[in-house]
Amino acid sequence: MDFKLTEEQELLFENLAELVEREWNESEYNDCYYNKHELPQRFIDALIENGFTMLGVPEEYGGTPVDYLTLVMYAKELARLTGANLPCASNAISIDDILSFGNEDQQKFILEYVAQHGTPPFALGFSEPQAGSDSSGILTTATRRDGKVYINGQKTMVTDADISPYLLCITRNLEGEVPMKSMSMWLVPNDAKGVRLEPMHKIGLKTGHFFEVYLEDVEVEESALIGVEGNGFMQLMKNFEIERLMLVAAGVGMAEAAFEEVARYANVREQFGQPIGRFQIIQQKLTDMAIKLENMKNYIYKTAWEKDNGISIMINSALAKRYCAIASFEVLDEAMQIMGGIGYAEESRISRMWLDVRHLRIAGGTDEIMVHIAGRQLLKKYR
Ligand SMILES: Cc1cc2nc3c(=O)[nH]c(=O)nc-3n(C[C@H](O)[C@H](O)[C@H](O)COP(=O)(O)OP(=O)(O)OC[C@H]3O[C@@H](n4cnc5c(N)ncnc54)[C@H](O)[C@@H]3O)c2cc1C
Repeated sequence: MDFKLTEEQELLFENLAELVEREWNESEYNDCYYNKHELPQRFIDALIENGFTMLGVPEEYGGTPVDYLTLVMYAKELARLTGANLPCASNAISIDDILSFGNEDQQKFILEYVAQHGTPPFALGFSEPQAGSDSSGILTTATRRDGKVYINGQKTMVTDADISPYLLCITRNLEGEVPMKSMSMWLVPNDAKGVRLEPMHKIGLKTGHFFEVYLEDVEVEESALIGVEGNGFMQLMKNFEIERLMLVAAGVGMAEAAFEEVARYANVREQFGQPIGRFQIIQQKLTDMAIKLENMKNYIYKTAWEKDNGISIMINSALAKRYCAIASFEVLDEAMQIMGGIGYAEESRISRMWLDVRHLRIAGGTDEIMVHIAGRQLLKKYR
């Protein structure tokens, strides 16, 4: 296993760094984040123009295929260079379910939308008020009447339901004996009659929006089904392991950005007549942060390499998600400590990243659920 960048990777990341240098504007992003609550579309357009939003998408769909390791490195690097958690970093993974299981029309529509907007055209409607970590508790149904399909239920914490034209909605056949084998995946238009959105308010990730989505007798065509009825959960899970890596890769990137910023700050900020970096307690913080960064990078790169080499990442993706979600937040928290009061101000990038990184301990499977997944498997290995 060798994580030295290949020539292609070097070129890719040099191009990315140049693009960020040219197009990223920190105060414009802060305005998007704290005031407008919208994505930095001008920057995303620059990523689209330079082919980054189709990275990892197969060539036959008009993308630039790369391996998982490169994708994970890209998500980490984009977050490091911008200090932002941008949803467009993992398009290849987000749209893969539809490219793999959708029909030709659905694939065509998804690809055209991503090519134009740089983000997928759907929000994920999976969680429900009574069904978070335990997906088997899903109660949203799809039933047939007079040749039509009607969807009823409630989804919660749906990210960007308002700006996405569709909801990728997971329903369940309540009579099915095994819940995970009775789920189906539908592409529901968000402006259909019977869809109602109620805003919720997040403390971080403020360029995106959070919604309760109520579905009352929402009529959809049979053609809204994605893949095979009853296989919705399996289809959704196809990429969950690599999705977890992509999620935390952004956290690792933000932790690295924070480390670089506070290491510079510790060299110039003077108190008691000397740079605070001369105090050994600050050096200890930086040392522990550097160890965590190295461990996190090794963990996500190694797990992506395993996936690329056909090795099961069932355990390692859960361990990497748990370790990196916790460690990236610890690095951000120490970075805020080194900055002192200015690190707690909205004007500092550290406070913004601190808010963003915290969600990784919950979304995409909580820290505790990672134990639930990995713990039993670890024991099984030594039975
Ligand atoms: C920023 C953000 C964005 C999100 N976006 C979306 C989205 O777009 N679409 C969507 O469908 N969902 C989304 N979610 C929801 C997310 O998937 C859930 O929050 C997550 O699955 C946890 O479910 P829950 O919040 O209901 O917590 P619960 O499952 O109720 O858990 C509460 C606590 O109990 C613990 N717990 C639960 N079960 C166990 C167990 N077996 N062993 C030990 N501890 C356990 C949990 O770890 C947690 O600490 C988002 C969440 C966040 C924070």
